[in-house]
Amino acid sequence: MRPLLEQYPLLKERLPHVPLGELPTPVMPLVHLGAEIGTEGLYLKHDGLSGSIYGGNKVRKLEFLLGDALRKGAKAVVTFGFAGSNHALATAVYARKVGLESTSILLAQINARYVRRNLLLSHACGAEIRHFESERAAYIPTTALFVRKRLSQGKFAYIISPGGSSPLGVVGYVNAAFELKEQVASGVMPEPDRVFVALGTMGTAVGLTLGLKAAGLKTRVVSVRVVDEKYGNREKFVSLFNKTRDLILSLDSSFPRVELAGDDVEIIHDFFGGRYARFTEQGMAAVDLVAKTEGITLEGTYTGKTMAALIDRVRDRGAKDGIVLFWNTCNARDFSSTIAGINHRQLPRSCSRYFDEDVQPLDRQP
Ligand SMILES: *Cc1c(COP(=O)(O)O)cnc(C)c1O
Repeated sequence: MRPLLEQYPLLKERLPHVPLGELPTPVMPLVHLGAEIGTEGLYLKHDGLSGSIYGGNKVRKLEFLLGDALRKGAKAVVTFGFAGSNHALATAVYARKVGLESTSILLAQINARYVRRNLLLSHACGAEIRHFESERAAYIPTTALFVRKRLSQGKFAYIISPGGSSPLGVVGYVNAAFELKEQVASGVMPEPDRVFVALGTMGTAVGLTLGLKAAGLKTRVVSVRVVDEKYGNREKFVSLFNKTRDLILSLDSSFPRVELAGDDVEIIHDFFGGRYARFTEQGMAAVDLVAKTEGITLEGTYTGKTMAALIDRVRDRGAKDGIVLFWNTCNARDFSSTIAGINHRQLPRSCSRYFDEDVQPLDRQP
């Protein structure tokens, strides 16, 4: 079920797409957490279950991106991220599933247990991992890698943007908004007034904003920035929105010509904590509260910070925000048994430090 493609047959015909996800993802009321923070109108959209092997928000984007790579006859894909990148991992998992080689160009980040797990699963999926200290250090080896692939495969590798947030990837979240509309129509939940979502490379928040407007829902997106402001900001948000809308319109001119009004973009900056992937006290308190009240696992880099912002807002404004939907973007599939037997010495030596060095204090187990 891809309601955007069903509603716009020209898009179905023209957009590259390969089904990867288990969609629609479930919507569930958060009754206990709601009672704890003082609202009866709290729900969760569980994109953690978006894929059977590995879930999270990157799966919806990859349906279009890998679809495009296949349509163009690529043999390999290359993508970029920080060492623990969920996007790089999702790319490794689903590239293999559709028969493409994958390479992840990774940059150093603050250490956490999920970094170890993600590196191990990427390796188990056969991804080639290249890790660098900085963008500068990555530049020449990455260029050389593209040349080498071109020579050996007779084709350029297909480049997937960081986070999968190119206009084509963002279409995955335009579809997600149409999916939510169908769930609202079938009575799974009332029409939300607000959706809270993490803001990283912005594709998720931009796609939802565009899709919700195009689908005619009143729902407003509240984006919680969890990356440096040079990556996640209003200007880039507007630009990605317009490019994605124009891509869709170029394929089907009957799609609504939606425009962003000034107050359509709400970005909360106060929960970032100053550094990407550095866990915060507030974020981890939110992770603990959601685990205790609902038995749902969030994490410290994206969803804990986003939930902390939601909790703060609801506690502050009570029912004034109406029906609030938390869009869970983090994987909920357990892959610990897949990586149990893998020795991290099989990874490139530049990744050893994530295993040899301690994780950040807020990630240490009690
Ligand atoms: C990548 C990611 C995000 C951010 O999504 P963007 O589309 O890059 O803004 C949020 N949560 C998790 C768990 C992610 O892996």
